[in-house]
Amino acid sequence: MKTEVIQVGVLATNCYIVSDDTTNECVVIDPGGESARIEDHLENAALTPTFVLATHAHGDHTGAAKSLVEKYGAQFLIGIHDVAAVNQQLEWLVSMLGDFQDPPVPNRGLEHGDKLTVGQVEIEVLSTPGHTPGSVSFYVEDHVYTGDTLFRETIGRFDLSGGDEDKEIASIKKVLFELDDTTLVLPGHGPSSTIGHEKIANMFVR
Ligand SMILES: [Zn+2]
Repeated sequence: MKTEVIQVGVLATNCYIVSDDTTNECVVIDPGGESARIEDHLENAALTPTFVLATHAHGDHTGAAKSLVEKYGAQFLIGIHDVAAVNQQLEWLVSMLGDFQDPPVPNRGLEHGDKLTVGQVEIEVLSTPGHTPGSVSFYVEDHVYTGDTLFRETIGRFDLSGGDEDKEIASIKKVLFELDDTTLVLPGHGPSSTIGHEKIANMFVR
């Protein structure tokens, strides 16, 4: 398994490309904007996405899904409780993004424990609500992609529509902090971390 990051859009969303280096299949997590840059990267690496995944519905994580889905015929998947919000975007948010494309209707909603297979890479869905009702994290071989639930030494906003502080804290403490301390945390914005570091250094969830 190989993981790469491209920062896209005005909010510098971390768009991750997780690939099986033996088959050239990949998933794209959180394509928030700048679809041409993401597509260039895929072309250069000779990768074809099987799935386009979003940790949650916000436009800065879904704004380039349309191009990728249309170009590669990939399935677009998101947490089941964020499916409706994909096509009911926050106007103020998408208006600041610039190149936002209305995302396609998701192929289906993901639930806790669902597993997706890309070549020999297995991706496990962890339900981590709070930032949005349907926020999910993706666990792949000692890496966890946490979207806007858990950042390095901080946590995501819970004041946007559908946000819930108690659920967000519980998602971090009872789901993400159950992972091994050495698990690499790859958030939706900003630098990476580890679960062990967050248990010690994250003032919001200590
Ligand atoms: Zn968000």
